[in-house]
Amino acid sequence: LPSVYRLKSVQSNLHQRGIGGLGAEFADIFRRAFASRVFPPHVTSRLGIKHVKGMLLFGPPGTGKTLMARQIGKMLNGKDPKIVNGPEVLSKFVGETEKNVRDLFADAEQDQRTLGDASELHVIIFDEIDAICKSRGSTRDGTGVHDSIVNQLLTKIDGVEALNNVLLIGMTNRKDLLDEALLRPGRLEVQVEISLPDEAGRFQILQIHTNKMKEISFLGHDINLQELAARTKNYSGAELEGVVKSATSYALNRQLSIDDLTKPVEEKNIKITMEDFLHAIHEVQPAFGASTDDLD
Ligand code: ATP
Repeated sequence: LPSVYRLKSVQSNLHQRGIGGLGAEFADIFRRAFASRVFPPHVTSRLGIKHVKGMLLFGPPGTGKTLMARQIGKMLNGKDPKIVNGPEVLSKFVGETEKNVRDLFADAEQDQRTLGDASELHVIIFDEIDAICKSRGSTRDGTGVHDSIVNQLLTKIDGVEALNNVLLIGMTNRKDLLDEALLRPGRLEVQVEISLPDEAGRFQILQIHTNKMKEISFLGHDINLQELAARTKNYSGAELEGVVKSATSYALNRQLSIDDLTKPVEEKNIKITMEDFLHAIHEVQPAFGASTDDLD
């Protein structure tokens, strides 16, 4: 099995659960690379097999990595997964960061001790993992503190072999900064790149974020989401959500006066129009590359 998978578009459907809601492309990758290698602890110990210990989701900001990791976690053990953030784990006190890293695995270790094979799978989601796992030797503080933190994390991941009830999902916008050792087989070995959505993906994301507007008849008849998807090349999911929010503000400012704010909105029959969206596209520009929109 190849260890690096590429997702061109993630059409994460916020209203659904499970891999179906993550788009067909991801569902396929998940089944091939991942689902067949994650098992409950009682199965792994009975058959003497090891499940995959870790996964890395990487790609530009706002492409839905957190959204996806959360759903994977829920899907695997039916609970909201524990999400920790790299910068939060970092402490200015010597030795404290290493302790924070150890604490992440404490629940799983405790479970394994008390419940044994009956222990459930602990999914630990580590956002901005690059904050604590940059290449050793790359930070020139001369203290070796950083290297010791990386070593602690690697030791803990290796210890998962004995635990067999932990799955670590790391996320980063800067895979290039990560210590190579973190990505070796047996560590975050399944890697999925989540890139900016293509036109079909953008169309679906715009649909998701305007669904509610459609239901309450706020969406004007002239709105053409297909055209908006074509005009928003290089926009991430988060930026598309930003476009929808900005278009909403334009529509409200245009059609509501201060006095109207005290009346029920339905009385005014306000609508969001294509023009509001085109203004919003001009206002919200993509962080990576220029948009292809050309209004002038
Ligand atoms: P970062 O790297 O900055 O943490 P991220 O890749 O983890 O970003 P999310 O935090 O998952 O991105 O996305 C931010 C918001 O953008 C989501 O809550 C969602 O509203 C919207 N969004 C991003 N991608 C998608 C998508 N594929 N489908 C629907 N909404 C999306």
